[in-house]
Amino acid sequence: MAKHLDKIYDVVVVGSGAGAGPVIYELSKAGKQVLVLEKGPWFRTRDFRKDELTATRRSVYTPNLKDEFHIITYENTIGDTVSESTFESGWDFWNGNMVGGSSNLMSGYFHRMKPVDFRLADAYGEIEGADIRNWPVSYEELEPYYTKVEHVVGVSGKVVPHRFLEPRSTPDFPYPPLKENIVSGIIDGAAKQSGIEVIPTPRAILSLPKDDRKSCYYSNYCGSYGCASDAKGSSRVSLIREALKTGNCTVVTNAFVYHLETDGHFRVKRAWFVDAGGQKHAVRGKIFVVAAQAVESVRLLLLSKNKEFSEGLANNNGMVGKNLLFSAGGTGFVEFHRKDFDEATWKQLMKPGLFVNRSTQFFYETSLEGRKVKGGTVDFLWEHANPVTRAVRRLYDGTRLLRGRELKNKIYHDFTRTRRLEFEIFLDWLPYRGTYVTLAKQKDFRGFPVADIHIDGHPYQIRLGKVIAAQLKPLLDALPAHKASVNISNDPPSNLQAGGIIFGDNKKTSVLDKNCRAHDVDNLFVTDGSFMPTGGSVPYTWTIYANAFRVADVIKTLIS
Ligand SMILES: Cc1cc2nc3c(=O)[nH]c(=O)nc-3n(C[C@H](O)[C@H](O)[C@H](O)COP(=O)(O)OP(=O)(O)OC[C@H]3O[C@@H](n4cnc5c(N)ncnc54)[C@H](O)[C@@H]3O)c2cc1C
Ligand code: SF4
Repeated sequence: MAKHLDKIYDVVVVGSGAGAGPVIYELSKAGKQVLVLEKGPWFRTRDFRKDELTATRRSVYTPNLKDEFHIITYENTIGDTVSESTFESGWDFWNGNMVGGSSNLMSGYFHRMKPVDFRLADAYGEIEGADIRNWPVSYEELEPYYTKVEHVVGVSGKVVPHRFLEPRSTPDFPYPPLKENIVSGIIDGAAKQSGIEVIPTPRAILSLPKDDRKSCYYSNYCGSYGCASDAKGSSRVSLIREALKTGNCTVVTNAFVYHLETDGHFRVKRAWFVDAGGQKHAVRGKIFVVAAQAVESVRLLLLSKNKEFSEGLANNNGMVGKNLLFSAGGTGFVEFHRKDFDEATWKQLMKPGLFVNRSTQFFYETSLEGRKVKGGTVDFLWEHANPVTRAVRRLYDGTRLLRGRELKNKIYHDFTRTRRLEFEIFLDWLPYRGTYVTLAKQKDFRGFPVADIHIDGHPYQIRLGKVIAAQLKPLLDALPAHKASVNISNDPPSNLQAGGIIFGDNKKTSVLDKNCRAHDVDNLFVTDGSFMPTGGSVPYTWTIYANAFRVADVIKTLIS
């Protein structure tokens, strides 16, 4: 074992993404010795090129699915239960294995959860079959940490009053809004006409330089790509790089943690990992923090069986893996056509790089089947610039496969004379009996059982999604656009994972306490999105960052 790993670290952190970064940053700055064990390699800013093949078509930022896959278990359209490997299906549930994790690749659409999201059960009551709970902490407890993320990670935007604006301790964002395409004004006009209020979308992207990070240069390739200017608020540049400057933080890359060993007294003693050469190592620590993203964090606890925990670490109540969340809702688009605009306006509309940055939370509460219910958020964005992906999407005209000149003409026409404005609907993925993680019998190339992700979206999500899509229609109709298409689906977006190791006050029905410390393991914390019993109707990362800062403050008080 490398010599520096021989000591007892104050904190050993598994993973280095959004859930890990704040703990690494805060504890290193507080003078504690922090060891980070990260499964992936360390890409530097200079390594992130705008190459579609690297970013989306090859296993560069994620493992090769032949070596490391997941099993997905679901019910197919004829009612049979199917279990298939993601190597066979290509449906990838890895999101970024590298220092900084998937936060390097995120688009950075950042929304806070609302106060009501913290007491969903009280506010809207039960939904049959769903395990909806209030959180053991309130919005007010998390608010200072949402604000901290705005400053430390860097969030740009503009606060405008609207019916579901969450209470804020500061009047506005520390960074002004990013530059926008003229489409944002067009959406504002449609919002006015339809009476559906839209808001500027906050982004974890710097509009102005900060420390040694440059501001955004509008590269046109953001989501799924690493940032070549450090403007994106990845855990790597905004937190870990700062932590390293303290001299208190050690990062070990290509370190796959496969076992957390306890000492017979309900405390973790050592983390075991395999290095790139297949060698096994053990490291000792006072506090252990798991943040490997929801599915893999569950897998690690389930792999860590022993005499004290025969079903997996912290799993004596059988709750580890349960209440896994994704994000419900769907996607859609409208199309702008060249013929509807004068040349100058069209040129502006086709301008690459500039953001749309409009959302609506007008339907954050709505009604369904005669009842007041929680609704959701809709974000607007351009169709991704990826040329290969866009061309492949044009292969079919309805069900007819296009070839040769016809295909060439279609691609040329669509790329030069149309532009797609897409939207994403974010609704609560309900905690449901059919969505959970177990260990599969299949093993990865290192010989460890892979995670079996059982997926069954609650049918309610589809009904609600259709209602939101219908309510959005007047806004879409007011746009000078064509061909509105919406797809409401219970297929989970694999990049938005939460739940599985949920927190709560009741030891029998949750794994972690309100500070994300395992009820049954004194020195074990979990700080990625797996603590969340419900997810809010927004992407999760701002909440993951904020909560990890909150937990870091708790951990600080425990290490003398
Ligand atoms: C293309 C894309 C776009 C996105 N856009 C948005 C967005 O606009 N808004 C938003 O809020 N969110 C977005 N997200 C989601 C966001 O990136 C995640 O919510 C966030 O990064 C999750 O943080 P995490 O710590 O749980 O996981 P990660 O950031 O993925 O970090 C987990 C880390 O743990 C490591 N790891 C896993 N297993 C082990 C192990 N056994 N041992 C050691 N290390 C391990 C992984 O390699 C990884 O580095 C996007 C994600 C992607 C991929
Ligand atoms: S430069 Fe801007 S648009 Fe490009 S990846 Fe970085 S944050 Fe995203």
